[in-house]
Amino acid sequence: MDKPNLHRHLNRQINKFLSEITLRNNSDLSTFIKVINQTYLNYEKDAELFEQAARLNDKEYSEINEKLKQEISKRDLFELKLIEAINQLNVDDGVKLGGKDNLLDLIKILNREIEIKKEYQEQLNSAKILAEKANDAKSEFLSIMSHEIRTPLNAIIGLVYIMEKENSLESIHENIEVLKHSAQNLFLLINDILDFNKIEAGKVDIEKIPFDFKELIKQIAKSLQVKASENLNTIQVDIDADFQPNLISDPLRINQIITNLVSNAIKFTKEGIITITVNQISIINEVSTFKVEVKDTGIGIDKENFQNIFQKFSQAETKTYRQFGGTGLGLVITKKLLNLLKSDIQFESEIGIGTKFYFTISLPINKYFDTIVTDDLQENYKEQDLNGMRVLLVEDNLINIKIAQKIMSQWNVEVDLAENGLVGVEKFNLNSYDVILMDLSMPVMNGYEATSIIREKDKLIPIVALTASASFGYLDRVFQIGINEYIIKPFNPKELNMKLRKYYKG
Ligand code: ADP
Repeated sequence: MDKPNLHRHLNRQINKFLSEITLRNNSDLSTFIKVINQTYLNYEKDAELFEQAARLNDKEYSEINEKLKQEISKRDLFELKLIEAINQLNVDDGVKLGGKDNLLDLIKILNREIEIKKEYQEQLNSAKILAEKANDAKSEFLSIMSHEIRTPLNAIIGLVYIMEKENSLESIHENIEVLKHSAQNLFLLINDILDFNKIEAGKVDIEKIPFDFKELIKQIAKSLQVKASENLNTIQVDIDADFQPNLISDPLRINQIITNLVSNAIKFTKEGIITITVNQISIINEVSTFKVEVKDTGIGIDKENFQNIFQKFSQAETKTYRQFGGTGLGLVITKKLLNLLKSDIQFESEIGIGTKFYFTISLPINKYFDTIVTDDLQENYKEQDLNGMRVLLVEDNLINIKIAQKIMSQWNVEVDLAENGLVGVEKFNLNSYDVILMDLSMPVMNGYEATSIIREKDKLIPIVALTASASFGYLDRVFQIGINEYIIKPFNPKELNMKLRKYYKG
């Protein structure tokens, strides 16, 4: 029998109990041993397989276990990061985060965040639509503007060309009125644009100047009468007998507001009546409250367009521009200016019947200061010759110098120039003058300093300030340093003549 193939345990038993001879002579026994041996071997294999299988399961189990642990720690980490991220979003809805078990809260917050994102998205969308609309309005505005600007500009260029070509007094006389009118239109238009930009940028300061409100209204009515009669309109002024007209505010801005309203009324009315009414409401603690109303009998405004008319660059209807011109800026500026004056514009309108714009405003009453010279007075004033009068003009702006020199030379005034306060003081020390015209803001030495130095030497020489601003507090300071008068730039020649005349010794 082939012993080396025997299982070691079987081999050991055979060696112990059976001899070689027995085995060799008994073939049945040999066969039996072979079968037993096979069973042994099979058992061994199974055992090995089982062991192997057991070992494999262990490994797999620990591998799975390891994976599971990793997954759990990954999930924990993810959850922590999520919580951290949500906390960074500054959620403030009373839900405290920090634990790992508040997944419900987490979901609630996530839902809310999604809602917020959605809302934000919607807001962005409507902002985009608005921006697109604004852009359209701007494009339309630009095309209107370029037409509005080009028309007077073309007239100016064309007329200057004709005047140059014809080179005759007759041509100059003939065209100068149209030139003046075109330049004035252009000036008003550019003023509107600049004003609008200034207001938009929050750069408009409301002055506090004493003025006569009643005079202001009369002036507006008078200055727009010619325009009104072009449309066969009449302007009526109806001022309450109790109205207190001496007020302190910004006459330039108030003029602008009422002029805008009356101009619109004229523009949109034919053969009608435009009425400016002022009604006193109360006077309490030296503050006057009153209502100003501009009413017309014109085309009226469609209810549908009530909102549109206060939108920048917009007109009630596109066809408005074609028919009536305009830029759609007037009412926006009017409303914003009134807001700066702590008032607001209101209106009522009916198609075919007419429109009424009105506002109620409260302004302090002026008790102390003389009101500024009204245009009315100036209009009837005859400029006086001031032959031989010596004036020292202290001014740094070349254009202002040119204009002032030209105007004063018409009255035969001798003008000496100083380009800043320092030169002004030097010239004053060396020469004698009847009046000093003093600009206030200049390089090197300003007008305040120069005036103070001059006043130390000479208490009497008349000094007239040329100023771009005229606020109440500011003028107070001007008088304190010894300035006798002020003229607001750009100055009216008649006003300058009136002021110089007081000091004329000729
Ligand atoms: P515009 O330069 O076009 O006059 P505004 O801002 O002054 O601009 O006015 C905006 C629009 O409001 C006008 O285009 C016009 O449609 C309407 N509107 C203003 N005032 C009147 C009025 N008195 N009567 C009728 N429509 C008016």
